[in-house]
Amino acid sequence: MQTFYLQSPRSPFCLVDSAASAILVFLRSLRNMKFRILFLFIIGSFFCQIFATTWGLGDITCPICDTVNSFYVVFSYGSYIYQWESKYQFVFWPMTDPQSLYCCKNCRFTCFMGEFEAVPEDKHEKIRSTLDSLDFSDWPEDYLQIPMSDRLMVAEKMYTVIGQDDESWCHFYRIKGYHLQAEEKLDEAKAARLHALELVQKMMEYKINKGRLKELYLISGAMKYYTDDKEGALQDFKKAQKLTFKNDKVDEVQLKQYNDYLNGLLEDYVTKIEISALSA
Ligand SMILES: [Zn+2]
Repeated sequence: MQTFYLQSPRSPFCLVDSAASAILVFLRSLRNMKFRILFLFIIGSFFCQIFATTWGLGDITCPICDTVNSFYVVFSYGSYIYQWESKYQFVFWPMTDPQSLYCCKNCRFTCFMGEFEAVPEDKHEKIRSTLDSLDFSDWPEDYLQIPMSDRLMVAEKMYTVIGQDDESWCHFYRIKGYHLQAEEKLDEAKAARLHALELVQKMMEYKINKGRLKELYLISGAMKYYTDDKEGALQDFKKAQKLTFKNDKVDEVQLKQYNDYLNGLLEDYVTKIEISALSA
């Protein structure tokens, strides 16, 4: 599974703020309404493009049955993806887009992009027998027509055969919670998030994660928040606020940026919970 790495998650809104004043001054100088509308249209298109993610179709061969599939591959994106709303669930694009979960049109082998092609050969036989035990008779050929909840059900079985660590499972269940909520399968979304919570709490016990406790408490609090335990969430967020994310292999500038990013999320959460408690 892909995990979130330190990637200079700067806010795109700083750019928007400073650009906005200059745009307003220029707009006022345009006396003709037609020119003003044209100018706004050009500026609008520009911002749509720089804050957009783009996909294109590519030929991907299924490692299980050798069928060539037409799947979406990433063409472009930017660090602004870390500012999108899903950050509060610690789930990031492209996992938030249905294009990222591939499903072979022939054998129905299902895995997230990047992992689809990389499945180890010694797992192929067990994957084939697992797929043979499932009924795909009413599944459409086009993978985007298959609901994420169905694809995630198969992917879960595939990752069980492939085998993955607690961190990858925790990530998987956060993604599952995100998509099941989008399909309004709220009980199942809650179950997935409680599973993610159990895993992140287990991860906190590992010595290797000592420097990551700030991030792990944020994830734990987020999963509590999304499973209606606001009080437990607040406790985790406050614990996280007192910690610093550390990693000897990462330079100080990146570490500061990442700690700032985590602190921003924590502050948003704490403010939101405290305001809703006051108005209750
Ligand atoms: Zn296949």
